[in-house]
Amino acid sequence: MNKLIILKIEMSYGAVKDYIYPAVLCDGETCVLADCGYVGSLPEIEKALRNNGLTPEAITHIILTHHDHDHVGAAAAFKRKYPNVLILTSAEEAPYISGTKKSLRLEQAEQLQQDLPEDRQAFGMAFCNLLRSVEPVEVDQVLREDELLPFCGGIQVLAAPGHTPGHISLYLKEFDTILSGDAMALEQGQPVLPNPQFALDIDKAKDSMQRLLSHPAQSVICYHGGLFEKLNY
Ligand SMILES: [Zn+2]
Repeated sequence: MNKLIILKIEMSYGAVKDYIYPAVLCDGETCVLADCGYVGSLPEIEKALRNNGLTPEAITHIILTHHDHDHVGAAAAFKRKYPNVLILTSAEEAPYISGTKKSLRLEQAEQLQQDLPEDRQAFGMAFCNLLRSVEPVEVDQVLREDELLPFCGGIQVLAAPGHTPGHISLYLKEFDTILSGDAMALEQGQPVLPNPQFALDIDKAKDSMQRLLSHPAQSVICYHGGLFEKLNY
C-alpha cells in the first residue's frame, strides 16, 4: 500500500515561529523524503517520522527540490547517520548541494549585505552565517526534467526554475498531488511566491508557479504552508 505523509516541523527564525512541511512517500520497498529540513533539524525530522509510524532507517531516498538552507539543511547529517539513503536532485542544483559550487543564496546574501542599512547589518550577517553553516552532501543521482521515478506510485520531476535556477517540483502520480518545494507557498491559504524578493529569476519563478496552478493535479503540498486543494481555488 502506497502512503503519502506530510510531516509538520517547527522552524523558528529569531522571533518568528513557522512550520515546514516535508513529505514522505512510501511503497512496500522504497520510502522517499522530499526535502530535508533546516540546519540542525535532524532530531525533529526523526521525531516527526516516528510520530507517523516510520523509522528514519526506512528512508531510502531523499529528493531535494533545491539548495536552500531550509531544504538541504539536515541532509548531510541524515546521510551520515543513515548512510544507505540516496540523495537526488536536479543536475543544475547538484553542485550547490555537494559544495562544488558556492551557494547562489549565499552569494546573493553577501551582495545584499553591502547595501543593508546599519540597523539591519547584524541580521544580514547572521543570515550569511546561517547559509555558511549548511553542510554539503554528496548527490547520488541527478534527475532530468519530466523523468518518471518508478517507485511510490510514480514520481514525475517537474522543472520549476526561478526561486533557484534548477529548482524542481514533484508530481506524485498515484496521489494526483504536487510537492511544490519553493515554487509556490501558501499565505492565509492562498498561493504565493515564497520570498519573491529573493527569487533568483522572478519571471521564471512566476511562470513556474503558474504552471503548478494550471497543472491538472488536484492538490499541491507546499513546503511553506502545507496542503492546498485546488478545488477550493
Ligand atoms: Zn524554503
